[in-house]
Amino acid sequence: MSIIEEELSRFRKDVAEHVPGSEVVCCVRSSVQVRLRRTDFKTLVVQAQFPADYPAGRIVVELKSKTIPTKFLDGLVSACDAETKKLLGQKQLLPVVKFVRAFMDENPLMACSDELSHIRKDLVRPSDEIKVNRKAGTIVMRVVEGNYATQFKLIVPDNYPADPVKMELKTSSLPSEFQVYMAGQSEELARQCVQPPLRPKPRAPPFTPAPSLRRVATFLVMECARVYPMTCCPLCKARCFPDDPARIVEDLEDAQHIERILCNHLYHRKCLDDYMKTPPFKGGKKCKAKGCEQRIFHERWNVSEKLAEDRWAHQEAKRREIDEVVEFLGV
Ligand SMILES: [Zn+2]
Ligand SMILES: [Zn+2]
Repeated sequence: MSIIEEELSRFRKDVAEHVPGSEVVCCVRSSVQVRLRRTDFKTLVVQAQFPADYPAGRIVVELKSKTIPTKFLDGLVSACDAETKKLLGQKQLLPVVKFVRAFMDENPLMACSDELSHIRKDLVRPSDEIKVNRKAGTIVMRVVEGNYATQFKLIVPDNYPADPVKMELKTSSLPSEFQVYMAGQSEELARQCVQPPLRPKPRAPPFTPAPSLRRVATFLVMECARVYPMTCCPLCKARCFPDDPARIVEDLEDAQHIERILCNHLYHRKCLDDYMKTPPFKGGKKCKAKGCEQRIFHERWNVSEKLAEDRWAHQEAKRREIDEVVEFLGV
């Protein structure tokens, strides 16, 4: 028996015991293929070829996967090349398959390496911070906008992307009601990526799960942390948040208190209050933010058209009475 044939026969016997989740697809001298499975998504096939001068020359490894991003596979192939160089003159097949499996176990972020490069490219500015912990499968981002900063942690589960990414808000200069919204909405967006809607739209195409990491990170950065501090009130056009986060108005009744409405646009309390109480009321009041026009729903101004009309009429009548008195008195 040649060296290679002897190695292959040992390999067939040993691989299942030494490498969890492995399945030999093909194991002959001209073609060795082993499937490695950690989760549905983290599944790949190791293809190995023996060079003519084996074991003096190194085994050539190729990796195939329907689910793992190509860039990640390319990186793993170069890691394999470096590994096999250390094994020249020895049996290389089992060690290299073990090495690939260990790499899969130690890199929980392999399922989202593409999303992570998009996040670095599209979302992170020089003033921000991003810390990736490859072993733990976590990404901590700190987004800075003016004097405001928001830091959050994204946790990628082992069964990603079938399971959704989790978000922990660490610190933020934004008010607590904004933080509650960001946490709740992140969870909801991640859920929508992996679970079909409770009430699917008629004639909607069948639901296909989608990765949730980039979706949640984009929401937190591009719809919240980066946007809120710079947003202007659509009515008075002045910035909603003060330059200094320490000067944020906490008092709900204060004219400058910031109201976030359902479509995620911001208003000063007084501006929104005046607008909501001024006709026309027909068809509900629409958001005045550029390009929005969604109907405004807010618990504090949740009144029917009829009631809003009555209140307006009452207020106008009172104003006219006062005007008449003022005119009569000549003040
Ligand atoms: Zn305003
Ligand atoms: Zn709006």
